[in-house]
Amino acid sequence: MGRVSARLGIFHFHQLLLMKLPDNSAEWRAHLAAKDAEPVAYEVTRHAATERPFTGRYESHWDKGIYRCICCDNTLFTSETKFDAGCGWPSFYQASDQAAIEERVDRAHGMLRTETVCSVCKAHLGHVFPDGPAPTGLRYCMNSAALSFVPQEDKP
Ligand SMILES: [Zn+2]
Repeated sequence: MGRVSARLGIFHFHQLLLMKLPDNSAEWRAHLAAKDAEPVAYEVTRHAATERPFTGRYESHWDKGIYRCICCDNTLFTSETKFDAGCGWPSFYQASDQAAIEERVDRAHGMLRTETVCSVCKAHLGHVFPDGPAPTGLRYCMNSAALSFVPQEDKP
């Protein structure tokens, strides 16, 4: 008793930011630029574009920490569930919380896929496929540009 997790507090931080979310494209672009987002972040998150494989900043990124929505800071994944799928995009086998991500049927490009969006701000994140590793068998195939990383603080 008495030990407080250094990570507590991050998980509900996004709720403080909700009132300030942009509501048009110019505001979103400015908002993302101010957060040091990748140049493709606006097209990815607000118009469901896909970054080119092997180009994102988190594709080969294995530090411990939390991955949040670049748009609203909603916590989406932890580094413990990240794995190397070899597909060129950061991949996770589980969301940090079932409520963090919404799934939508995506019939674009002649395929039937499951789109994933941020449950808070509806940012497009990527897709989820049923070919991931145990224990879930899922592969959340994400765009780096839709994510921001917060390193885990290792306090003694
Ligand atoms: Zn979001």
